[in-house]
Amino acid sequence: MKNINSYRVFERNNKEPNKEGDYVLYWMQINRRFHYNFALEYATGWANKLNKPLLILEAFSCDYPWATERTHTFVMQGMKEHIEYADRLKLNYVSFVETESGQYEKLLKQLASKASLLVTDEYPVFIMRKRNEKYPLEMDMPYITVDSNGLIPLGFTEKDPYSAYLFRKIMQKNFVEAFTNPPKKAPLDELRNKKKIKLPGSYFENLPNGRDSLSNISETVSGLNINHNVGAIEWHGGRQAALGMLGRFTKDNLLEYDEKRNNPDEKKTSNLSPWLHFGKISEYEIVKAVLEHQPKDWDLDKITYNNGSTGGYFNGNPNIDGFLDEVITWREVGFHFAHHREDYDQFNSLPDWAIKTLNKHRDDPRKWTYSYEELENAQTHDQLWNAAQSQLRRDGIIHNYLRMLWGKKIIEWTPDPETALQYLIDLNNTYAIDGRDPNSYSGIFWCLGRFDRAWQERSVTGKLRYMSSENTRKKVKLKQYLATFGNQKELI
Ligand SMILES: Cc1cc2nc3c(=O)[nH]c(=O)nc-3n(C[C@H](O)[C@H](O)[C@H](O)COP(=O)(O)OP(=O)(O)OC[C@H]3O[C@@H](n4cnc5c(N)ncnc54)[C@H](O)[C@@H]3O)c2cc1C
Repeated sequence: MKNINSYRVFERNNKEPNKEGDYVLYWMQINRRFHYNFALEYATGWANKLNKPLLILEAFSCDYPWATERTHTFVMQGMKEHIEYADRLKLNYVSFVETESGQYEKLLKQLASKASLLVTDEYPVFIMRKRNEKYPLEMDMPYITVDSNGLIPLGFTEKDPYSAYLFRKIMQKNFVEAFTNPPKKAPLDELRNKKKIKLPGSYFENLPNGRDSLSNISETVSGLNINHNVGAIEWHGGRQAALGMLGRFTKDNLLEYDEKRNNPDEKKTSNLSPWLHFGKISEYEIVKAVLEHQPKDWDLDKITYNNGSTGGYFNGNPNIDGFLDEVITWREVGFHFAHHREDYDQFNSLPDWAIKTLNKHRDDPRKWTYSYEELENAQTHDQLWNAAQSQLRRDGIIHNYLRMLWGKKIIEWTPDPETALQYLIDLNNTYAIDGRDPNSYSGIFWCLGRFDRAWQERSVTGKLRYMSSENTRKKVKLKQYLATFGNQKELI
């Protein structure tokens, strides 16, 4: 039987390794970490097999869709931390921040031209997906993508799961095997050839110096041709910040997670999505840390297959079991969906029932309609919605429960579902620090029916699950939230 991790490896062009190459190249595109990283582990394995040193390239482009100061600052903070780590360990590590379109691609191709083979991150959405489709055709050596995104390898599912229930069944059958075949904590410890790689100076001619760009991040960012209206957030983009967040969560909030997570005022969720998005922390280490808080007599033998139902699988503390369902099932169902569906960001990827009901109601009169700018500037009649949008603008995130309401209302307040979808994608991916992720598309398309079922029919939104601000105010604790993000005078 094949090892579960073999389903993580995608040979993209079936070329033979170049034995004359100077090194193995690991191109760190999205899983920006040196620990618990299957792709880095795989590249290290190849370097050892060919007795070559390993070159790691971590770069950042300036012309990607929805590029903002916010994203740039967060990513560059992480890269700066990496320089210090790489120097300490004397790694062959190149960090590079592009200031003009095309520089990144040129450098990548130059570095690849001297490599025996190239390993990079498998990722099912956004520019990484496009690059991983385009570059293998343009390169002469093996171009291999390795999936280090979640526990169940992307190559393990045969088609797009249309519901969380369906994916949960697969997860339940394979969790133990996946969890007991984890990525190595420090794969670079096993690298044998530590020779210093000398790169020709000509590769870097007319390019900004990566180290200089990162020494003063705000200055570098201010000179880039990106959106400067969306500024940096308080959270730091490095791995240390992610580990700190995980530590605080498991210590203070995990054991009340399921009970209180829907109440914005309780602040019981992990806040880990920004670092998960940029791969600063792996899902495996989160799951491992969380399982360490199960009751003392709990072990993997307590797990019982439960046919895809939410409860009755981990059989531990319900708060922990609830968190695991979010971070494994709900996180990964979106990755697997996008992996199998090139149209993951298109209206037509919605289930048939959702398309049918939205078409039936597309001409229903709307009580309110807002332009993109009105929504962006939190100028609607709905104080709670405006508060959620204000949180997104300021902090780059919306509390999960309110994120659902935020998405649902945009469908009601736009002239047609396609416009709603476009506004949702643009607002989310511009302002959210965890945006441009498979989960961005899961969340947005969930509002339009993906991974959901038909509910009672109403005007405009048809059979989509309905959410109202009035009910949300009754259901969840919002006093502090509204005091921070809403208009004080209108507090109820
Ligand atoms: C309209 C809309 C847009 C969204 N956009 C994004 C986005 O851009 N990026 C993003 O990562 N998530 C997105 N989500 C999903 C979810 O809201 C966030 O993952 C979650 O709120 C992140 O906060 P947390 O890390 O504190 O979550 P926790 O509750 O602590 O959960 C831990 C982790 O589990 C995963 N998770 C939790 N809830 C969900 C969910 N409903 N769907 C998928 N994964 C989940 C996330 O990886 C999360 O970090 C969106 C949801 C909606 C409704």
